[in-house]
Amino acid sequence: MPELPEVEITARLLDAALSGAQVESALAPGVNALKTFDPPLSAIDGQRFLWVRRRGKLFVLELDGGLALVVHLMSAGRLQIFGSRASLRDRTSRLLVRLTDGRELRLREFGTRQRAWVKLLRTGEVDDDEAIAELGPEAWPETPPLEELLDEPRPLYALLRDQQVIAGIGRSWVDEILHTAKLSPFKRGSDLDPDETQRLREAIRTRLGDAIAHYQEALSLPIPDKLPMPLTVHRRNGEPCPRCGDRLEAVFYEDYVMCYCPTCQTEGKVLKDRRLSRLLK
Ligand SMILES: [Zn+2]
Repeated sequence: MPELPEVEITARLLDAALSGAQVESALAPGVNALKTFDPPLSAIDGQRFLWVRRRGKLFVLELDGGLALVVHLMSAGRLQIFGSRASLRDRTSRLLVRLTDGRELRLREFGTRQRAWVKLLRTGEVDDDEAIAELGPEAWPETPPLEELLDEPRPLYALLRDQQVIAGIGRSWVDEILHTAKLSPFKRGSDLDPDETQRLREAIRTRLGDAIAHYQEALSLPIPDKLPMPLTVHRRNGEPCPRCGDRLEAVFYEDYVMCYCPTCQTEGKVLKDRRLSRLLK
């Protein structure tokens, strides 16, 4: 599940590897992956990559001909570079960008759903595109003050994952951040006191920053299909809490799970009712 730290490290590795590389041709085998038609994908033929940057959980890959690819991996995508061409039978391929040096940039997606997407935009239109224009401030590296951002009667679990409130946090890192901040996922943003707001801001900054530092040490090209995420709470329900040793609990949703420590976060209350989980969406 790629979130801010995973997209950040991937963007750094791709930036180093792609800068100056020239596009030979590009195609989008994923039927729904390419969300734009003007300019056509063939417009990037012959252009060189300038840089790759991250905004929220999105990649922006800028080319020297005034165009940029914006890529969202959604929950199961990967953006990778390979030394050779993809097999046409590789059903994970959503976008293939062939480079004149023989390498290939590939957007792949695992699982049955096709949700990862790509837009080809003119460079000047990138910041105005709704996918980027609607994003809240970056969760990292300059974690913004949270008092006003979170002053809503919605649970923290929903607020922190709302990309229009704060950009970059998803289902994995929200569990880790709330555990580090010793805050209930069910607590409403507008109910935070100044100490709690400060703890939460610090938890966002350190957990995302530490994850990126971990990846910087652990990862190099080629980017693996499965990133070794340094998670200590998410999907660890049933295991001991890394802080207090009590049992981590979970609320189960249709296709994911929210994990927390009752002792550290919810004053001992165990909340795993599905009706309650509906309220948190
Ligand atoms: Zn605990």
